[in-house]
Amino acid sequence: MKSRGVKIVLNSDSLQLGGKTIMQTLPSRQVENHDPFLLLHHAGPYDMRGEHAHFYVGPHPHRGFEPITFVFQGGVRHKDSLGNDSSIEAPGVQWISAGKGIIHSEQSSKHFEEFGGNFELIQLWVNLPAHLKMERPTYAKCDENELEKIALEDSPNSKLYLISGVEGNQKGKILDRTGIKSLMGYLKKDTSVHIKLKDKSASMVYVLGGEISINGTMVAGKQLALLEEDGAKLQLEAAEDSRILILEGNPIHEKVVSWGPYVMNTQREILEAMKDYNEGKMGFLAS
Ligand code: MN
Repeated sequence: MKSRGVKIVLNSDSLQLGGKTIMQTLPSRQVENHDPFLLLHHAGPYDMRGEHAHFYVGPHPHRGFEPITFVFQGGVRHKDSLGNDSSIEAPGVQWISAGKGIIHSEQSSKHFEEFGGNFELIQLWVNLPAHLKMERPTYAKCDENELEKIALEDSPNSKLYLISGVEGNQKGKILDRTGIKSLMGYLKKDTSVHIKLKDKSASMVYVLGGEISINGTMVAGKQLALLEEDGAKLQLEAAEDSRILILEGNPIHEKVVSWGPYVMNTQREILEAMKDYNEGKMGFLAS
């Protein structure tokens, strides 16, 4: 079985968002997207204690894609126009399929505000194909006891969680709409990971911290490795204690027109999204 190699390693650009420095690897100066993956933001790690153990991102809409939050450290409270109000603590994931429209807010969880500590998350935007962009929005979450733990026999202190998709006879709890396989890992130095991929797919590995080797290519913290299209075996090894995110999806091959919080196929659909939001068609969420 062919091992999947690294096609390109992207460095992060920093940007200011809500008074914090965020790292962005997608889109990058070199690559607009890695279809179906549109955007990858890495927030933290921040050391937040006492009165500083707090953040708030007010109500805002999304349409046409899936904004997913992987919480590696700390805790997040999410509220949305579907009526959800839920908190997740690391390691945990919240998976929104925005479909035709959702409004949500995000803030530090009560637990995090009380205890503080390190805070770190990944925000990933995954595109939806045209026929799913106007579906009903959904929200799903997974915390540590709902995540599928993948056994790493040689490294019992490492943790690798399957969030969506299938690995061996294990299945992630998140049932996504487009066949995304996702895993988040906290790996100790020298841990080896072997993951089964499809014969052909779009895949990538983001390293939050530490350093890993993918099929011989070194990938450092805050770097994103976009992998080749083929090779059904992903082999990686932690050169240091590392936190990583592994993603696999199916390219959609459609025109992407995005503006702010909307990702559609045409400019006209973007204007429709703005109009529908202004007319309250994406629901309501009090701040
Ligand atoms: Mn959002």
